[in-house]
Amino acid sequence: MPRTLPDLTHRALRRIRPLSFETNASFVERLARAHYLTTSELLSGLHIHRPKVYPAREHDYGPHTPTELYLNAGARARISQYTGIPDAHLTHALPCWKDYRDRGSAAETRPGGAMRPSSLPAVIGCPHCTVARTGQTQPVPRYLPHQQLVCARHRTWALGPHTLHGIPVPHTHALLHKTPEIVRAHHTHLRLTRRWGPDADNAVAQAARLTEHWRRRAPKSERIWPDRARLVGSEDASMWQALAREAITYPETITLAGLLVRRPSTRYHRTRPGQSHPLHTTIARLLNRRWLQNPAHYPEDLSHYIRYAPRHPTNDTAYRHHTKPTSREADTVELTQLGYRPSQPTAKAHGPQRR
Ligand SMILES: [Zn+2]
Repeated sequence: MPRTLPDLTHRALRRIRPLSFETNASFVERLARAHYLTTSELLSGLHIHRPKVYPAREHDYGPHTPTELYLNAGARARISQYTGIPDAHLTHALPCWKDYRDRGSAAETRPGGAMRPSSLPAVIGCPHCTVARTGQTQPVPRYLPHQQLVCARHRTWALGPHTLHGIPVPHTHALLHKTPEIVRAHHTHLRLTRRWGPDADNAVAQAARLTEHWRRRAPKSERIWPDRARLVGSEDASMWQALAREAITYPETITLAGLLVRRPSTRYHRTRPGQSHPLHTTIARLLNRRWLQNPAHYPEDLSHYIRYAPRHPTNDTAYRHHTKPTSREADTVELTQLGYRPSQPTAKAHGPQRR
């Protein structure tokens, strides 16, 4: 028998604040749950038309891409009124709050929205911070920017969504208690961002691409990354090397980004085979990896990684609150594509897949 829906035209009984970078779907769901409702019951109670659902298309998105709730201006106004939180505050906290393509003003359109795959990557925020802020253990998906994947206080790293043979991997966080260098790198990352603004984001993104290139092709003599994988995860170090790849190469990524953002004074040019390049020597010394002197370890298009000229260092911190998180990986990542080769078919371990 259908439940009688409450009339929610009054102010919400419980104050639910959005967490910074939270997904719209998560915020509205938490709001509903606090009032013992489902999201659709809450929306109905607020006289918001049932959102149209757009399923993920296989070509554009993976099967585990999270779905985001996009609300039109009328629906956003109802939520704002119900929660007593000004629309400007919601826009500030929720990166996708205003991403519905409104046609006409709030007064002209019927309150409603759409559920469709999110175009930004969401991760699960630090579980300890989430409990402290919400009083609930329910995970909160957030579009955290790269420099906030680390919670220095609780020593956690938010992993992106991953699959193994199409099945979601149940790990959402790496633990950093045994790798203080990752937490130190996080503080350096924040300083780089404060000083260089968006140029730091570019440099970190380029450096991350390079360290990932090296992680996949590292010689057997490279011990630091496999050891770190063991320290942040479990004894299945090869899986954690792929799963937590951003975390285990992060100290090197940030060190390299510090070099790239200042733009190496040596203009990069190709050298003959066997001839070492001053930039390779600098990087090998900086990252304390002799094997990085070998030109064979550098991608052909290295010049593209260092081509941008940073503007002057910035004092503008506002951009961090108003720009969206950089799109690192817009989708779920299949571990086997990252070089993880399970020793036995893991599908069996999860039981047969039901159709
Ligand atoms: Zn935390």
